[in-house]
Amino acid sequence: QLVEIEAAQAAERTSQEIVQENRDYTLFSWSVQGAANPMLMKRAEGVYFWDGDDNRWLDFSAQLINMNVGHQHPKVLEAIKKQVDELCFAGPGFATEPRGVLGKKLAEVTGLAKAFFTLGGSEANENAMKIARLFTGRNKIITRYRSYHGATMGSMTASGDPRRWPVEPGIPGVVRAFDPYCYRCPFGQKVETCHRECVSHIEEIIQMEGPNEIAAILVEGITGSNGILVPPDDYYPKLRALCDKYGILLIDDEVMSGFGRTGKYLATQHYGIKPDIVTAAKGLTSGYMPLGTVIVSDPIAQYFETHMLYGGLTYSGHPVSCAAANANLAVYEEEQIFENVDTQGVYLADRLNAIKDKFDCVGDVRSIGLFSVIELVKDKASKEPLAPFNGTSAEMAKLAMYLKSQHLYAFTRFNMLWVCPPLVITQQQLAEGLDIIERGLALVDEALQHSRNHPEEVHAPVRLTS
Ligand code: PLP
Repeated sequence: QLVEIEAAQAAERTSQEIVQENRDYTLFSWSVQGAANPMLMKRAEGVYFWDGDDNRWLDFSAQLINMNVGHQHPKVLEAIKKQVDELCFAGPGFATEPRGVLGKKLAEVTGLAKAFFTLGGSEANENAMKIARLFTGRNKIITRYRSYHGATMGSMTASGDPRRWPVEPGIPGVVRAFDPYCYRCPFGQKVETCHRECVSHIEEIIQMEGPNEIAAILVEGITGSNGILVPPDDYYPKLRALCDKYGILLIDDEVMSGFGRTGKYLATQHYGIKPDIVTAAKGLTSGYMPLGTVIVSDPIAQYFETHMLYGGLTYSGHPVSCAAANANLAVYEEEQIFENVDTQGVYLADRLNAIKDKFDCVGDVRSIGLFSVIELVKDKASKEPLAPFNGTSAEMAKLAMYLKSQHLYAFTRFNMLWVCPPLVITQQQLAEGLDIIERGLALVDEALQHSRNHPEEVHAPVRLTS
């Protein structure tokens, strides 16, 4: 009875009270706590969720680019409930049916041999680096400045962007290279003059660091949270060849770009290469349960037949997480989700290209499948970013506020706006969100025009950290 009374009291609590309790007693990730302004999510379905005031939001972020089959998919919910009833937990040293089924499926879709299970993407990258070091007997890992690999100590150090700064020096042995960022080529090249310096300088780094010291090159399949950096077609074949030349492992972090986001299981499958190690999370379960994985090639799997694999946590290979992943992967096939990504991806690319032509504030658009970004500039010719790297600006804040006012939930960071909805989205729903974005970009164009006419009113952009 007491439980019922408590439940009734909880039901009467206002949204503000619930949010306040969250703020009073919990710490929000990646936030200055005093500035955290969490929204209450009450319920969700497909590409929509509802806030505490019952406003319906169109989710163009798929909740951190993660809920590929959308919110509350009945088949995934059913599989989770079934597994909970049958066997909720078994220690990581036990065999369970969902674990074996998932391992076999992952080998099939990646062409690799065996899967090690983790609780998420960061831990997958920690273990991938550890496995590469154990297997090769070498220590150094080459990563890229614009890749993000997670928020645990090793994965945070391996990340290149400013999110790593606070933990530095972090773990030893991480060496960084530049990314294939063609719109702002770090080597000052244009498409016509490019000699793939983004690969050849990595060979120079290998020489300077000692080829026999380098265990692996760790890259995001397609860089996500630093701007959907789709590489030139021959980037991956060249990188693969470089790894083979020096006996260096290629670790492909597909946490964000994998499992359907680009229309394939792995983004690198677009380029016809096979990595030695793949890490994944997010789209593996579409976020219904926490799960990550490190999938390794046959030689690596063979090595661990006779050598200890130093790793694993209490919850590794959790049966409910594995069951959720199996159901999620079945939905991908039964509902032809990747085909939808291809179809909607063409529509999205067309709309984005039109947006680039239409608005002065849009410098570049990049997309592959339903993985896309709009990069905003003050001036198309100079490419001056609308907000500085690691910073924000009044115009970007204005755009973000407008999208919020229209209940479009989309991720903005520095001078970029991401369009990465659940993969079940329809063309009509995509159009609904893109129309809102167009109205927001029109406001930015107006604001820029106003600033040009009234330079005395322009505010300095704000840098976020050190
Ligand atoms: N790797 C990439 C490419 C990511 O985008 C992320 C998270 O956004 C991670 C790793 C970390 O994954 P998780 O947050 O599940 O630890």
